[in-house]
Amino acid sequence: MTDLRPLSPGSRIGILGGGQLGRMLSLAASRLGMRTHIYCPDPDSPAFEVTPHKTVASYDDAQALRAFAEAVDVVTYEFENVPLAAARLIAEIVPLRPGPRALEVSQDRLVEKAFLSESGIAIAPYSPVTSLAELEAAIARIGAPSVLKTTRLGYDGKGQRMLRSPEDAAHAFAELEAGAPLVLEAFIPFEKEISVIVVRAANGDIVSYDPSENVHRDHILKTSTLPASISPAAGSTAKAIAERIAQALDYVGTMGVEFFVVADGDEPHLLVNEIAPRVHNSGHWTQAVCVTDQFENHIRAVVGWPLGDTTRLADVTMENLIGDEIFATADRSATPGVQPHIYGKSEARAGRKMGHLNIVHPIKR
Ligand code: AMP
Repeated sequence: MTDLRPLSPGSRIGILGGGQLGRMLSLAASRLGMRTHIYCPDPDSPAFEVTPHKTVASYDDAQALRAFAEAVDVVTYEFENVPLAAARLIAEIVPLRPGPRALEVSQDRLVEKAFLSESGIAIAPYSPVTSLAELEAAIARIGAPSVLKTTRLGYDGKGQRMLRSPEDAAHAFAELEAGAPLVLEAFIPFEKEISVIVVRAANGDIVSYDPSENVHRDHILKTSTLPASISPAAGSTAKAIAERIAQALDYVGTMGVEFFVVADGDEPHLLVNEIAPRVHNSGHWTQAVCVTDQFENHIRAVVGWPLGDTTRLADVTMENLIGDEIFATADRSATPGVQPHIYGKSEARAGRKMGHLNIVHPIKR
């Protein structure tokens, strides 16, 4: 189903996934007067706390999916690993935004890379790998250092191994899930990592936010800082690439596009690392310094409203609170300019994203 007139306040938005992104989407939807219904298999999901409408069921429970789809006016998702069968079942009953194509492309690194290459977007050299012999051939072609990744279900550095030399091949191959399809990527000696949050409406309107400069710690995003230390020309190029990707996918909603910035004479060149068909951690700063943040703009796109203003009104750093860093939130909130967002997760496990701070840098007058 694709037809959708603008929905009125009081309409019902179904959200697949009950993590912090679902929670913040739900809060943004509430501010527009929309009701949200969260679908998630985990009864302890943080998003369940902010709406009374929920379904606790697995993503392969056709009956529960059908009942969920019938109870809402439109469905969206907060994570890219929604099973395609579930997405397709829902899309037959009610509009699904973004559509199943965005999931298909982003769930599998090889499909994503093929899509990006075919769309004329620069990415790291890569090669599919299904056996040790293929890995050795891929290293001969791509070289080392290089990065071996599972094609599916990798996140926060999980499912990847660095190959510093060809001798690392057998060990890295054995360590990644037996039999899982893999991809070998050239290691990119990037100067920095940036990302662009882009939003596309069903009528083709597109807006994007300024690129953020992202720093990872232990493979997990730690900070996103605005402005990124790149030239205005590189910033415009990154936005243009993100918009081209959204267009090529006929995308509806908010999407994150991650880039490697590689030094190259006067102007660096940009390689797309990954796309995320959803609101993105590196876009949380928009909550503090944009009239319309990435969550509200996603909801606007999904319900067919005009997209909101993405102008950045101040400099800002978003800092993720990981594991027990959450316990310092009250103290850190004493600093002027700090806007805390806490996800309501019951247990502060190591490596778990528990919340974030948007630290707004005062404008000098
Ligand atoms: P990914 O899950 O592919 O986004 O990778 C997570 C992080 O690992 C990236 O944000 C980079 O910091 C690093 N990384 C992944 N692939 C490469 C690569 N080909 N070259 C250099 N660093 C990489």
